[in-house]
Amino acid sequence: MQTATQLIHSIPVDPLTGAISVPIYQTSTFVQEAPGINQGYDYARTGNPTRSVLENLIAQMEEGSTGIAFSSGLAAIDAIVKLLESGDEILAVDDIYGGAFRLFTKVYKKFGITVRFTDTSDIEKVAAAIGPKTKLIWLETPTNPTLKISDIEAIARLAKANHCLLCVDNTFATPALQQPLLLGADLVVHSATKYLGGHSDLIAGLVVAKDPALGEQIKFLQNACGAILSPFDSWLVVRGMETLHLRMQQHGASALAVAEFLAQHPLVRKVNYPGLTTHPHHEVAKKQASGFGGIISFSLVDDTEEAALAFVTKTRVFKLAESLGGIKSLISHPANMTHKTIPQEQRRAAGINDSLIRLSIGLENAADLIRDLDQTLSAIRKPEPRFALAS
Ligand SMILES: *Cc1c(COP(=O)(O)O)cnc(C)c1O
Repeated sequence: MQTATQLIHSIPVDPLTGAISVPIYQTSTFVQEAPGINQGYDYARTGNPTRSVLENLIAQMEEGSTGIAFSSGLAAIDAIVKLLESGDEILAVDDIYGGAFRLFTKVYKKFGITVRFTDTSDIEKVAAAIGPKTKLIWLETPTNPTLKISDIEAIARLAKANHCLLCVDNTFATPALQQPLLLGADLVVHSATKYLGGHSDLIAGLVVAKDPALGEQIKFLQNACGAILSPFDSWLVVRGMETLHLRMQQHGASALAVAEFLAQHPLVRKVNYPGLTTHPHHEVAKKQASGFGGIISFSLVDDTEEAALAFVTKTRVFKLAESLGGIKSLISHPANMTHKTIPQEQRRAAGINDSLIRLSIGLENAADLIRDLDQTLSAIRKPEPRFALAS
């Protein structure tokens, strides 16, 4: 059976009524026959049948043993950090999601958990940065917003040799394109707010563990700390995931067309998209994923913050907003929006210049997206060229 078929049919038909859509069990508790004798559920923080459907679905898609659903992507990341102890160190990708950076450096620092950042697209740098205290390696691939690719399989080998866990934030690729657990990772985390939900209408997070014992530890933390996903939002994520394969194919096809358009445009300086053969990690991306996703970042020939800010406020089809992965195309300015919490110096070192613009390619017609960008580029064209051309 092909993955898309398998996915759609692993969402169960309701055994009680035959309902083809997953029922939303909007309840806090479950009546027991006798103390401790129940039908698998006792209290809805611990477990809820609608949430279970989502947790089983993501575990299956990521080829893991256990799926665990949280109220946000950051709550999911938080649960993974809580596996660590005071004195442990996290080795993280330098171009990390701003919220994860804030959590690691502003919240966990005071509990004695430290974090070291490195360019994980360079395996030598990862090997050199692993120390005796490193207990967790944290990857995003592709990264946000510079679209760097890290070799999951090679880093998994390093993690294993050094007895640390490898967690991959798979938000950008989704299991429809990339399955990190099959490449050797121990944990996968998702902001289901993005592609899994797919419609910009919810906030949710998921963890998948490869090993059942590790899955049990995270399930314990989910119940003990309480940041669970509601039945309704669980249902919305399941509904979104029903069309994940189809959506990821279209996001990727349109993103490639937009990236190719931008790459040949005289007013565009640099385009970051792993699907372009000119991307420095194109071969690694091709090796470990079946597609390149829907996120592009680029900068203009006029490489200034002012030009980027003017651009992001002039598009019509692309809406100026944080977030990504929905059906509507979004444009953003990472330095002033999603990545504002990262100090400017560190931001620049990771390649997030003040002139960088990020696009989340939605499901509109690709020709309309290109036309919108083309018109915006024409509108910002300066009357005088920056360099005098011989006439
Ligand atoms: C959005 C995002 C998160 C955080 O998820 P929330 O659902 O907003 O809490 C984590 N990682 C990546 C890569 C993201 O894009």
